[in-house]
Amino acid sequence: MTDETHPVPSDPSHGFSLEYAPAPESTSVVTIADDYGLFIDGEFVEPRSDQMFPTVSPSAETHLANVAAASAADVDLAVGAARRSHTDVWGSMPGRERAKYLYRIARQLQERAREFAVLETLDGGKPIKESRDVDIPLAAAHFFYYAGWADKLEYAFPGRSVSPRGVAGQIIPWNFPMLMLAWKVAPALAAGNTVVLKPAETTPLTALLFAQLLQDVGLPPGVVNIVTGAGATGAALVDHPDVDKLAFTGSTAVGKQIQRAALARGVPVTLELGGKAAHIVFEDAAIDQAIEGVINGIYFNQGHVCCAGSRLLVQESIAEPFVEKLKRRLATVRVGDPLDKNTDVGAINSSQQLAKITELVEVGVAEGAELFQPDCVLPDSGWFFRPTILTNVQQTHRIAREEVFGPVLSVLTFRTPEEAVAKANNTPYGLSAGIWTEKGSKILWMADQLKAGVVWANTYNQFDPTSPFGGYKESGFGREGGLHGLAPYLSVGPMGGQIR
Ligand code: ADP
Repeated sequence: MTDETHPVPSDPSHGFSLEYAPAPESTSVVTIADDYGLFIDGEFVEPRSDQMFPTVSPSAETHLANVAAASAADVDLAVGAARRSHTDVWGSMPGRERAKYLYRIARQLQERAREFAVLETLDGGKPIKESRDVDIPLAAAHFFYYAGWADKLEYAFPGRSVSPRGVAGQIIPWNFPMLMLAWKVAPALAAGNTVVLKPAETTPLTALLFAQLLQDVGLPPGVVNIVTGAGATGAALVDHPDVDKLAFTGSTAVGKQIQRAALARGVPVTLELGGKAAHIVFEDAAIDQAIEGVINGIYFNQGHVCCAGSRLLVQESIAEPFVEKLKRRLATVRVGDPLDKNTDVGAINSSQQLAKITELVEVGVAEGAELFQPDCVLPDSGWFFRPTILTNVQQTHRIAREEVFGPVLSVLTFRTPEEAVAKANNTPYGLSAGIWTEKGSKILWMADQLKAGVVWANTYNQFDPTSPFGGYKESGFGREGGLHGLAPYLSVGPMGGQIR
């Protein structure tokens, strides 16, 4: 069965087509309110600003809800609540008691996983199979992992005195709304901090559902406060004088502003910014696995991934057949309704992002790149972009240098491992990289040479709460995940001090 929103992917080279019946996930599990206030001191409150903004479905361009736009006065209330709760309750609570709350949050996330996944897909446009199988399970896993550390900080930092920093101001982007919330909130709470979190303006709904979950688990009021709004709300949080620690994930441009503001006030900050990862395939690689890895590396979550493998560096000796295979594989990728369980590539998060991707691809073609897009039918409504491969790309092209944050792969070639390293590192970013080769020694040598915080070998996009993630250079600094992700939320003092 086919229709406009469920195109039939076909593989022209083999002359057959695979048909998938529509398999839409039900939205009945989700209840969306008309209006959402701010979550401050354990309650939803009307914004002092009196300002609301809409959040829409990227796949249908339909209105989902109105959400409060927090002003500086609202942010001040939230920070005040976080401060009181830190002083009176959370900051002095024994770690084993904090852990119980974190475990409860993790278990609730698991129990309500379907609800969170559907809402994430509705508000953000990502395929349901990703929010269901990756975003929400990993978010729960982060809470489980950091729950385990809450009463073991003395083992995390043996012999050192540790204490929470206080109030953490956290700003997150729209590409992994719940996962980024978990990366930020779980370690902060485990370490004894209270939180004011600002979700991204295009994807606020799962954070607000999370606030309801916090009410259900009985988290003391003020421990987590959620202020929705756009950049101005984020800036008010960054500039608030009573915030003790800042954590930001988002664009490099905004990250630089936040770094300047934090530096001026002497507030510690963690920045997880953009990327332009090299995905390097050697001639001795397991080719079919590498094809799957490259596809996953760039088209996962529509390429809205800071660590996306957006630059394919393929060894010249296999470049032609490899790219041919890649194109054939791309033709079988299913683009369309994010709520359909068969969909591989969903909707672009916003019309602005779609315009940016479109512009960069046009510039790439104007600069001499060759465009390949499969012949898939895109839905009539919503923001969609055909998964794209650009060949003939030079290192100087904008498409090879700037972060596209979309389903667009630039292909470059190399002859020697040294050339692959030089090209991979020829970027202002340094977040991640991928290597495909059967030679272990080559993997180790390459990993050592690559200026990237995360290097995957013979796989890509693998995440685990125990494993630190973060970048070099314009990709930011500080790590999230693992013990490395706990440390920024603690003041680690001299040996032998008091531990809670
Ligand atoms: P993107 O370009 O991917 O939308 P941004 O860096 O603009 O990334 O957004 C990431 C997060 O930072 C969002 O929550 C956004 O509202 C917030 N933000 C944007 N501008 C500012 C700012 N000047 N100060 C603080 N936060 C901001």
